[in-house]
Amino acid sequence: MLVPEKLYGLIGYPLGHSLSPILHNWSCSRMAWPGAYFAWPVPPDRLAEMIRALRLLSVHGVSVTIPHKEAVLPLLDSVRPLAASAGAVNTLYWEGSRLCGENTDILGFLAPWGHKNLSLPRRALVLGAGGAARAVLTALHEINVPHIYISGRDGRKVESVARAFQAVSVPWAERHLRGADCVINTTPLGMAGIHQDVSPFPAEGFMGVGLAYDLVYHPLETRFLREAAAAGWRTQDGLDMLVAQGLAQFHLWTGLTPPPDEARALLLETLRPQA
Ligand code: NAP
Repeated sequence: MLVPEKLYGLIGYPLGHSLSPILHNWSCSRMAWPGAYFAWPVPPDRLAEMIRALRLLSVHGVSVTIPHKEAVLPLLDSVRPLAASAGAVNTLYWEGSRLCGENTDILGFLAPWGHKNLSLPRRALVLGAGGAARAVLTALHEINVPHIYISGRDGRKVESVARAFQAVSVPWAERHLRGADCVINTTPLGMAGIHQDVSPFPAEGFMGVGLAYDLVYHPLETRFLREAAAAGWRTQDGLDMLVAQGLAQFHLWTGLTPPPDEARALLLETLRPQA
C-alpha cells in the first residue's frame, strides 16, 4: 500500500461538489505518487490564517477557487507572470521555500487549440466578467486575437474589466450584434440546476462560421452549444479545460502528467447522472 506523505488540497468557500479531490486523488494513485488531496472550506475572513497554516504544515500544493482567487495574491511570495496579468491565482506551489501562485485556467482554456484543429479567432466575444473571464482574456491576448470584446449583465463591472484587459465592452442587450467568430461563455448560464437550458447568447447571433466555447462542463452539451452547432458553428465544451487546468496543477506539484484521456473519462463518469 502507498502511504501518503505529501498533503494537497482545495481552498474556497463554500466548496460544494468540487471535482478536484476526485481528479487529484486519482492522479496520485495513477502515477503512484504518495500524496493525498483534501477539500478545505475557508471563509474569506480566515484566508490569511489558512495561508499561514499551509506554510506551517508544508502543504505541498493547493488549488484555489471562488472567492479567494484574487484575495490570495498579496499573501504569496511570488506570482507567475500570466497569473499576475490575469490578477487571479488558482494554484499554489513551492519554489524552494517560496510559496508561489500560478493560474492554470489560462493554459487550460487554450488546451483545445493545441490538440484539435481549431482556427484562431479574429473577433472573440467573452460573456461574463468574473474570475474565469479574466483568465480567458489573458489567454486571448497570449494567442494574439486582434479584436476582443466583453459583455456582461453588470455594465460597470464589464467596463472596468474591459479597461484592465484592453477589450471593448459591449452592452449586454447588443452582445449578438458584433459579428464575433468566437463566443466564449464564462457565466454559469447553462449549468445543471436553476440555469440549465438557459443560453447566455441569442441564437440569431451565430452568423457565418465560428467557434462557440462554453466553460460550463455539466452538462457537456448546453443549450448555447446546441444552438451554435445548429447554426453550423464548431463547439467546445468546458471539460477539456477542466482536465487541462487540473493536470497542469498536478504537474506543477509533482513533475508528472497523468494521461489526459483517462482523466477525462474519469470526470465524465463522475458527472454522469446516477441511474
Ligand atoms: P464568477 O467569478 O462568479 O463570475 C461569473 C460571471 O457570470 C459574472 O460576470 C456574473 O455576473 C455572471 N453571471 C452570473 N449569473 C448570471 C446570470 N444569471 N446572467 C448573466 N450573467 C451572470 O465565476 P467564475 O469563476 O468566473 O466562473 C464562471 C463559470 O465558469 C462557472 O460556471 C464555472 O464553473 C466555469 N469555469 C469552468 C472552468 C473549466 O475548467 N471548465 C474553469 C473556471 C470556471 P455578475 O458579475 O453580475 O454577478
